[in-house]
Formats: sequence, structure tokens, C-alpha cells
Amino acid sequence: MPTTTTVVIGAGHAGLAMSRCLTERSIDHVVLERGEVANTWRAERWDSLRLLTPNWQARLPGYAYAGDDPDGYRSVNEVVDLVDDYARTVAAPVHAHTTVTSVRRDGDGYTVATDQGEWRAATVVLASGACNVPVVPAVAEAVPATVTTLTPAQYRNPGQLEEGGVLVVGAAATGIQLADEIHRSGRPVTLAVGEHVRAPRVYRGMDIQWWMDATGLNDMRYDEVDDIVRARRLPSMQLIGSAERATIDLNALTALGVTLVGRIAGIRDGTAQFAGSLRNVCALADLKLGRLLDTIDEWAGASGLDDEIEPPRRFAPTEVVAAPPLGLDLTSGEIATIVWATGFRPDYSWLDVPVLDRKGMVRHDGGVVDEAPGLYIIGLPFLRRRKSTLIDGAGDDARDLVAHLVAYLDDRSRHRATSPGLS
Ligand SMILES: Cc1cc2nc3c(=O)[nH]c(=O)nc-3n(C[C@H](O)[C@H](O)[C@H](O)COP(=O)(O)OP(=O)(O)OC[C@H]3O[C@@H](n4cnc5c(N)ncnc54)[C@H](O)[C@@H]3O)c2cc1C
Repeated sequence: MPTTTTVVIGAGHAGLAMSRCLTERSIDHVVLERGEVANTWRAERWDSLRLLTPNWQARLPGYAYAGDDPDGYRSVNEVVDLVDDYARTVAAPVHAHTTVTSVRRDGDGYTVATDQGEWRAATVVLASGACNVPVVPAVAEAVPATVTTLTPAQYRNPGQLEEGGVLVVGAAATGIQLADEIHRSGRPVTLAVGEHVRAPRVYRGMDIQWWMDATGLNDMRYDEVDDIVRARRLPSMQLIGSAERATIDLNALTALGVTLVGRIAGIRDGTAQFAGSLRNVCALADLKLGRLLDTIDEWAGASGLDDEIEPPRRFAPTEVVAAPPLGLDLTSGEIATIVWATGFRPDYSWLDVPVLDRKGMVRHDGGVVDEAPGLYIIGLPFLRRRKSTLIDGAGDDARDLVAHLVAYLDDRSRHRATSPGLS
């Protein structure tokens, strides 16, 4: 059985950032990938998707944007090129078309089984992605058979949808982007809105992501927030990357003709039932947006930027009609399709190390799996910092985790040297 010090599972940007940091510390390793480098961007994204982070904000260890459009937003193909290029630049030892089928503890290391054979390693890094499986609520089972349902992983473009109305469930970045695109295709959209995070694309002349970066909000650490469990579950900001740098909030969708309804609460006798909380969740999102802009304005003032950039402004509250519909008949033919933009979760069905919680998530402390020494995880929301979920966040997380991994290996060698029988 081939042996290496570290097996990294997954050749997305996070696994490759780990690879680069391992190489810097002379740790021999392999990166096992079931598809090709950047597999999820090749296979699981819709056609029109552009990153919601600007081009400059995809800094990876040993890699920075060098093009002439730092404020643009990459298309899916451009993200594939970026990740491919990065893999080449850092000479990552990727074994493509190698699916990991099991990881199990083996003495003081791990055996990693794949469809191409087994590897033995002292340490394993799970970089297999946070968004492997779309999350679909249990109410989906009650959708009438006449309505087509699909997830963002299956959606490519409006042309694949039947004519007729579309119910998009979920108002994070994915839900609002799909609502916008589908409605513009002539299919009337109803958008079911739960808790969401409202944000302008541009504020005081600067991209909101510039502010998140400059103020240090993106660098906030997982052990500094009051409620990390909640922080890790927060929906993504309502943003879209477009040439116009347009803001795509609920007011923009209402202006387009999209109908807003509350969170989907159930489906009874073919009728979708919506929570009466729409006004409240919108008011809360408006309040939080105000707080974010206050933080930005304070930082801009303290940094002496007030005279150099546009003055502060506030945005109109989210418009909600007096009595949003509480029900929608799914049997009338009005709705032909439902898109479940209700989030994603990782898939660890192949992980045979008992470190999963009730929800199937790996228990970890900032990416260090304490219950399984030598096991690490990267690429999850707020893993170590708010930016952990972004391409831009992988570098700092990878450096921290590799530092921990090196210290662990040193400890392990010392322990082996003083423990007869271990070699
Ligand atoms: C719709 C969408 C939009 C996003 N937009 C942005 C954005 O604008 N800006 C930004 O910075 N981030 C964005 N992200 C977040 C983030 O960049 C992506 O989730 C990113 O793909 C995560 O990178 P990763 O390397 O952690 O995981 P992935 O890119 O998912 O890579 C994981 C790799 O592991 C492989 N793998 C999984 N299981 C196995 C197995 N058993 N054996 C072998 N290989 C396996 C997969 O094939 C995959 O290649 C977006 C995410 C989504 C879903």
C-alpha cells in the first residue's frame, strides 16, 4: 500500500491551498480528486453564474490576480481557469479521477480507500467541499407530481424550464440570482423569503467586498464571535457579480415584478403555505444592513477616508405589500417549476471515523478535528474566519492548519521515538 504523510481529499481551491502550504513545509502529500481539478465548478454550477467576489479577491498562497480587470467578477469558466492555473503554479500532486470511498483510523494514522487503491497516511485533510449536496426541505415530498422540482446543482439556464410560473424557495445569493434570471426569461417568479442578508453591491463608491476586507470584518475569527453555530449557518449575502455592478436586493426584484412571499412552512392538499413573517424578516435584514453600514462609516471616518470617497447614505427599507399571499395553489397550473435554493451541505458518507454530529457535520475546532488526531478539515463556512467560505479565505486557514499539522507530526515522531514497538 503506498504511504504518504498527508492525504488531501479534494482538488478545489481549498485542497490546492493546503497542498501549497504543505509543500512550503516540505510535507510529502497527495491530493485525491474524484473528477478533475475544479470539479465542482465544471459540473455543478449554472451557466450565467459569476463570482460575487471581485477578481482581486481571490488571493491564494503564492497567487494573486494579475489581470487588467481587478473589479470584475469571474464567470464559471474563468473560475475553472483560475483553479486549474493555481494547481499548475503550485505543482500540486493531484491524482485525478480517484474517488475516496472510505477513510478509517489505522493505528496512529489513517487508511484512505479509493476506487484506485488504498493509501496509508499519518494525516488526512478533508477539502471535499461544503456544498456537495443541495439541502431540500422535507415539505418537498408533498409537491404535486405535475410540478417539476429542481435544485441549483441541476439548474443550468431558464431554457431548461417549462413555460409557466416558477416558485423559487430561498433568498440567499443563489435564490435571488435565479429569481432574477428566471423572471427575466418571461416565467413569472414567486420568491419565498426567510432570514436573509441584504447588502448593496457598491457603497460609497467601493465594492461591498472591499469594505468587508478593509474593515477587517472578513478576518473576524471563529473564536471571537458570540454564537459561532449561528454564524456558520447564516445565509450568503444577497449579491450578484455583473458588469453593471448592480445591487440585487428584494426591492430590485419587486421592481422587476417578482412576487415576494414568506418562508415556505408546508404544503397541504396541493397548496404551498407561507409563513406570515415576511415583513419581520425583511425589517430585520434592513436593520442589520443599517448596522453594517454604521460599522463601515465609523471605520471610514477613523481611517480619514471621509473626504476622499462618496458620503454615507442609507437605502430604502424593503417594500413588503400589506398582505403578502399566505398560500399558492400548486395544482392550478400557475406554477410549473419549483427551484429549491435552500442551501447545500457537505457529504461525508465515506468518512468512517466517528466525528460526525447529529446533523452529519464534522465536529472540529477551527478545522482541527480534536477527536481524531491528524484529521483536519478546510473550506467550511466560518471555519476559522468569516472569509473561510470564500476563495480568499483558504490561504490563511491553510497556513494555520498546516502549522498545526506540522506540530502534530513533530509530537507524533517524538512519541514514537520514546515508545518501544512503534515505528
Ligand atoms: C453557487 C456557489 C457560488 C459561490 N460563489 C463564490 C464566490 O463568488 N466567491 C467565492 O470566493 N466563493 C464562492 N463560493 C464558495 C466557494 O468558493 C465554493 O464553495 C468552493 O467551490 C469551495 O471550495 P473547496 O475547495 O472547499 O470545495 P470544492 O470546490 O467543492 O472542491 C472539493 C473537491 O473535492 C472533490 N471531492 C468531494 N468528495 C470527494 C471524494 N469522496 N473523493 C475525491 N474527491 C472528492 C470534489 O470533486 C471537488 O473537486 C460559491 C459556492 C457556490 C456553491
